[in-house]
Formats: sequence, structure tokens, C-alpha cells
Amino acid sequence: MIIGIVGLGLIGGSLGLDLKKQGHRVIGISRRELTVQRAISRGAVTQASVNMSLLSEAEVVFICTPLGFIIPTLEQLIAHLPSSCVITDVGSVKTPIVKAISPVWQNFVGGHPMAGSTDSGIEAARSNLFNNKPYVLTPINTTPTSAITVIENLISQLGVNIHYCSPEEHDKAVSLISHLPVMTSASLITTCDKEADSQVHQLAQKFASSGFRDTSRVGGGNPELGVMMAKYNREALLMSLHKYRSNLDELVNLIEREDWVSLEQILHSNNQARSKFVKELD
Ligand code: NAP
Repeated sequence: MIIGIVGLGLIGGSLGLDLKKQGHRVIGISRRELTVQRAISRGAVTQASVNMSLLSEAEVVFICTPLGFIIPTLEQLIAHLPSSCVITDVGSVKTPIVKAISPVWQNFVGGHPMAGSTDSGIEAARSNLFNNKPYVLTPINTTPTSAITVIENLISQLGVNIHYCSPEEHDKAVSLISHLPVMTSASLITTCDKEADSQVHQLAQKFASSGFRDTSRVGGGNPELGVMMAKYNREALLMSLHKYRSNLDELVNLIEREDWVSLEQILHSNNQARSKFVKELD
């Protein structure tokens, strides 16, 4: 197939590497000429340009720009694409994107590959990033079945596990398991970094090991991505943060009251709940 990828960063570049390997003709579009050249030399695209007119024969286009640029990118793109072209995006928030694009382009299927890294840009792109990872599609009742099938067939070639839900359900679920962790992990880093006692601060830094590396990883990632999550998934994220704060308050209360029995009950039930939540990952 002739596949366009707009936004040649971590996700766009990684998609290009895998789709090109599958024998597709991958046409990359990015904002900066330097990125275009790097994508070509890394083998992530068959050809690439900063000019969208290269996409005039594209059968499918993946929009892989940062969240805030997805809708403006679509608005620029439509002048260059055949009307049969199926467009999808990879944005980590779905409701505002699906609401804005579906009325403008019929063959649009919202998507979100649940794979990534804290690095960004074309240098961070890698093969097999999506293999065995969830890939969520959020079609709505006006999305043509034929468009869904085209995207399903393509992303299946990445070895992903496809899931379907509404854009709203998607946003609530990712606010819990993706956006909330970014914010709580960020607060953890702030708490450590703002420790007023310089001796304790230095020691904490020296003692930090694998546990801190795990718990601080998502909070220390791409700041632009974190702001976009909060901006575009504000309502669901606020709801998750309020629930989290109330659970944290409960822990504070139990520790203040020295209620070790109740604390143990909570930690015991968390121990079991975590195994269920991450069972597919282990
Ligand atoms: P990224 O590494 O920063 O890549 C985005 C790329 O888009 C940049 O390399 C930039 O290329 C290009 N770009 C920026 N503005 C553009 C524009 N107006 N037109 C064309 N290209 C433009 O970001 P990413 O992590 O791949 O994220 C891209 C999308 O994937 C986001 O919508 C995000 O929500 C979603 N996502 C991210 C992850 C993750 O873990 N990172 C996971 C799943 C989904 P230039 O160098 O040319 O400016």
C-alpha cells in the first residue's frame, strides 16, 4: 500500500520502520528538513519531504504529530489527499480529535498505539516498538466499516493486540493508567528534588536505585507530551487525580492514626490487584 506518515518522531518513525519492512511504500512528511533527511537515512521511509503534496496518491495516512498539531495537520492535509484515503491518528487522547475530524473526513478512524518511550524525535524511533502491545481503535457510529478494516489489516502487521472502545471510554481509561501516572510520578520527582535539607537531598540521590528509576520514569519524560495529556484530557485526568488524592489522604490518615491493620489490608489488596492489572505484561 501507499502509506503516508505525517510527523516523523518516535511514533511516526517507528511506524515507518515496521511498515516499510512489511513491503509498503512509506511516504513521510515532517516539519523540519533535518528530520526528513534523518528519516530517509534511518530507513524509516521510502521517500520524504516537508511538502504534503507528496501524499497525492496515499491510500492511508497516519497523523503522528504532537497532540496539539493533529487537527491543524488534518486541516492542511485534506487539500492534498484523494477522497478515498483512510486517515488515522496516533494521539494519546481521542475525544476532541475524533469530534473535530470525523465531520470533516469520513474515512477517519481514531487510533492510539499503547507503546512508547520517554525519548522523542526520529532518533528515538525503533523497530518492533508496537509488537505485542495494545493498539486501541475508537471508531464511532458514522465510521465506515471499510475504513476500519483497512486500518485493522495494516496495524495487525505490527503484531499489536487490537482493542475497540468509544473515544470517551478510551480517554477515561488512559487517564487512569497513563496520564495519572505521569502526574503522580512527576510529583514524586518534585518532592525528592525540592527536599530542603541538602544533606538528605544528596544522600537520596546517591541511594536512588531501581525502585526510584521505575517510579520516576514516566514523570521524567517529554514535558510537551505531559502538558498535552493534561490539556486535551483535562476532565478525565482531573477526575483521576481527585480519586488518587483521596486514596493518598486515606493512607496519610491511617499512618497518622497508626492503624497498621487497615494499612496492611489496603496493601494486601493492592498486591493482588496489581498482579491482575499487569498480568499481560509479565
Ligand atoms: P515526537 O517524537 O516529538 O514526534 C513528533 C514529530 O512530529 C516530531 O519529530 C516533529 O518533527 C513532527 N512535527 C511536529 N509538528 C509538526 C507539524 N506541524 N507537522 C508535521 N510534523 C510535525 O512525538 P511522539 O512521541 O512520536 O508523539 C507523536 C504522537 O504520538 C502524539 O500525538 C502522541 O500523543 C502520540 N503517542 C505518543 C506516545 C509516546 O509514548 N511518546 C505513545 C503513543 C502515542 P520535526 O522534527 O520535523 O519537527
